[in-house]
Amino acid sequence: MGFIRFFLTLWAILAFSLLETSLAQRSSMELNKGNNFNKDSKTSFLKFQSNKKYLNINDIKIEINYPFSKKDIIPKLLKNLRISKKSLSKLLSSDISFETKVSLYTEDDFFKLTGAPEWTNALFLNNEISLPVNSDVLESSLKHEFTHAYINALSKSKCPAWLDEGIAQWIEGSNHQILTSIYKDWLKRNSVIPFKLLENGFLNLSSEIVGAAYAQSLFGFELLLEKYGKRKIDKYFRLLKKGQKHKKAFRRTFRISEVELEALIEDRFS
Ligand SMILES: [Zn+2]
Repeated sequence: MGFIRFFLTLWAILAFSLLETSLAQRSSMELNKGNNFNKDSKTSFLKFQSNKKYLNINDIKIEINYPFSKKDIIPKLLKNLRISKKSLSKLLSSDISFETKVSLYTEDDFFKLTGAPEWTNALFLNNEISLPVNSDVLESSLKHEFTHAYINALSKSKCPAWLDEGIAQWIEGSNHQILTSIYKDWLKRNSVIPFKLLENGFLNLSSEIVGAAYAQSLFGFELLLEKYGKRKIDKYFRLLKKGQKHKKAFRRTFRISEVELEALIEDRFS
């Protein structure tokens, strides 16, 4: 969730409902495969306006496209990717091989080429991470989106969206205070969100639920990590990679169902 830090400063200023609406829009952009992301114009644009760099971290190959005028930030981003990979390897299996692309744009170009609304600060789409280069949350967004690329490869795209978002927020270092506040507020008026609703992405959720969905996804992952440890999380991903359905893999690994995890979360936050 590279996006939430963008709202940290807004949090104090804007009403809760406005924040939630923005969260909903952000997640839609991130997960909507059918948005108006224009691949062709983007490719031809990059040919003339950008430089390329390649980063290999073990068996991960990353192509980085960036506007020449912003070449100075590249060393920082390469370091960021290496740190993200290290954090992910510590948490999950390091036995991973994939290729992905990171494309950096000036802010104007990012919005023109992706069609993304103004508040957006990152996209992971078709195995490509797109970021506006002037974003003040560039580093956390890159960590977040790189995690999606990593999990996509690690699980052969089988990871339920809630766990994918939970881990991406954890790696990014999301703000617990804000998420706890959003989630507690949600639980005053509603029940825990069934993880079944969150397994295929957050796109179809109503705007009132999206902030809580991100928060619950992080807290769900943290509870698993705390209760079962990294080895079990790793086992779960190994089963997904072998082709096991995520519900079966979940029960086999943690000896509880996703519904039972919902109850544990409710106990913790109510
Ligand atoms: Zn995400």
